[in-house]
Amino acid sequence: MADFDVDLFVIGGGSGGVRAARIASQHGARVMLAEEYRMGGTCVIRGCIPKKLLVYASRFRGEFEDAAGYGWTLAQPSFDWPTLIANKDKEIARLEAAYTSTLQKAGVDIAKSRATLADPHTVVLGDGRRVRAAHILIATGGVPGYGDKIPGIEHAISSNEAFHLPQMPRRVLIQGGGYIAIEFAGIFSGLGAQVTLVYRGENILRGFDDDVRHHVRTDMEKHGIKVITSCKVTAIEHAAGHLSAHLTGGNHIQADCVMFAVGRPPNVDNLGLQQAGVAIGKNGGIAVDEYSRSSVASIYAVGDVTNRVNLTPVAIREGHAFADTVFGGKPTAVNHTNVPTAVFSDPEVGAVGLTEAQARSHCLHTDIYKAMFRPLKATLSGRDTTVLLKLVVDGVSGRVVGCHVVGEGAAEMIQLAAVAIKMGATKADFDATIALHPTSAEELVTMRTKSASYTRAAAE
Ligand SMILES: Cc1cc2nc3c(=O)[nH]c(=O)nc-3n(C[C@H](O)[C@H](O)[C@H](O)COP(=O)(O)OP(=O)(O)OC[C@H]3O[C@@H](n4cnc5c(N)ncnc54)[C@H](O)[C@@H]3O)c2cc1C
Repeated sequence: MADFDVDLFVIGGGSGGVRAARIASQHGARVMLAEEYRMGGTCVIRGCIPKKLLVYASRFRGEFEDAAGYGWTLAQPSFDWPTLIANKDKEIARLEAAYTSTLQKAGVDIAKSRATLADPHTVVLGDGRRVRAAHILIATGGVPGYGDKIPGIEHAISSNEAFHLPQMPRRVLIQGGGYIAIEFAGIFSGLGAQVTLVYRGENILRGFDDDVRHHVRTDMEKHGIKVITSCKVTAIEHAAGHLSAHLTGGNHIQADCVMFAVGRPPNVDNLGLQQAGVAIGKNGGIAVDEYSRSSVASIYAVGDVTNRVNLTPVAIREGHAFADTVFGGKPTAVNHTNVPTAVFSDPEVGAVGLTEAQARSHCLHTDIYKAMFRPLKATLSGRDTTVLLKLVVDGVSGRVVGCHVVGEGAAEMIQLAAVAIKMGATKADFDATIALHPTSAEELVTMRTKSASYTRAAAE
């Protein structure tokens, strides 16, 4: 590889790029990485981490309310958005510095610059410098989408801007029904805003189990979030210090902030993909094989830019597998099945494996076990909420093929349930596990009666 300036050039310092660069360097490769914005990428700077900090902030409202039933008397709590944002920014800056220093310690050469492809082995930096690389990894992530171009769309923000609003908006309209829209609805509502969620589909959280979707929507509405489905924002006007969002059907809603969270297309524009001959797949992302290799032998892609499973731990796993494959002498393909996922909404969702609908089309027999109950904590607090636990079982093998939880601690529960499901645990294994009492999770190992059973028709 002597003809090249580096063995690996990584474009993008997010979850996938950073992991790939560090591991490749540890395998002995000469690595350079370009990041055009801030080291750490979406997850650290304007995704998972700042989002979860805002979620924590928003949940104090419920805790304060619940405290009364447990004998606490509190002075009227008040909330200060600038304090939250300043503290969040301080933590994000600390993490960004930690990412930079980890890469530097690993020997990675960092360019604070945009990078584009000129050909299968050449990257051009913002200052015009050309770097020749034996291998190139594209890890440029995704970008917030805005859907159809509608009049006044320039007045809408995406999740990127939501983390930096100078003031807490009092009335928020969110268009979208995916996890980012639902999470921000919970954040703004918990922090005291009046929130309306507008979604074009029939129900929110497409892709999740139907019981989960119904349960979350019902609870969100109980908590005061207005959910309008089968509807879209058609125009946004700015007048007299507020925004007015026009909806299909002729209604309009006034708001201080209109946020669009309608998907994140892969970040493939103006990267020089065509010059290098890199093909785009049907899903709009860079087309790759199971080892994340693109249509060009020297160019690989990982993370959201490939639009496979757009989650941080997946991007990290793909980046690591790429480095092991190309520089570690250990070809590693990433298995994208049974990836656990969460929605940090109010109530929280955790899910892994097949939904009931997916199982019914995949499995010859499907058994469903379901429990819905008032959590113990809600008894004294008087909170009007229920927990949902659901197991989807392949009736032939007895394996648990899906687990879905809605309620406090759902994400933490699902991380562990995912281990069992990944190992191929059967319903009998769950039953053989002694419950941990008193918890909500114990119902996962005590459900004995099927709530439904289906056999796929022969023709299906
Ligand atoms: C609001 C929000 C909440 C989220 N919450 C979660 C969550 O709770 N859990 C979870 O698992 N996932 C979550 N995600 C998704 C997660 O952030 C992404 O899946 C993950 O960051 C993808 O990593 P990546 O390496 O593919 O890309 P990214 O992390 O997006 O990194 C790409 C990097 O490339 C840089 N870049 C782009 N083009 C160039 C170029 N030409 N030159 C140089 N640099 C470039 C960008 O500036 C960016 O830093 C969330 C996302 C958002 C937006």
